[in-house]
Amino acid sequence: MCLANKHQTTVPSAAEKIALTCSKLGEQKIIFHKDGNSAHVHTKIMETFPALENGGGYDILRSSEGRTKTLMEIPIPSSGYSVAYLRSVLGQAKGYLRPIQKSINLEKVGGCQNKVDSIKVNCLNCQLAIPMNEIKQHQANCQKESLETDETIPSIDLTLAPGASTSNCTEKQMKLFLL
Ligand SMILES: [Zn+2]
Repeated sequence: MCLANKHQTTVPSAAEKIALTCSKLGEQKIIFHKDGNSAHVHTKIMETFPALENGGGYDILRSSEGRTKTLMEIPIPSSGYSVAYLRSVLGQAKGYLRPIQKSINLEKVGGCQNKVDSIKVNCLNCQLAIPMNEIKQHQANCQKESLETDETIPSIDLTLAPGASTSNCTEKQMKLFLL
């Protein structure tokens, strides 16, 4: 999993995980050669998380033992992170990559909004095919328009309709006037 925030010190929350996954930074399985050196590890990491390219290097962290959410920084050896080294320090734990110099701008990387254009559903109101990730927004606009046209007709009816309400109105106005 690749973190976006260079200051992050804890396991990402569920919401953060979703945001990271949307930006292709979330959990990924990276398969390394058993005897891969640090150059191999670096290449694989960059292939998996291209957004990390602009981070100015990365730390590797791991979840700590017990229930704490604090991440533990894995010190980088002079020869770099090799596969054998990572295996020994990570064990079964998940590894977290964290940019060193610059946080990754999730908006720039592109969140879920830009991704789902293949699945379209029909708007029940206007029958247009709308990408499913935009249907909520469309529905809001689409229904607003139909509500507006629905409302204009009865509102005219009301003003034209009963004479009683108009006289009530003037009565109130007169009372106020007298007080
Ligand atoms: Zn519509």
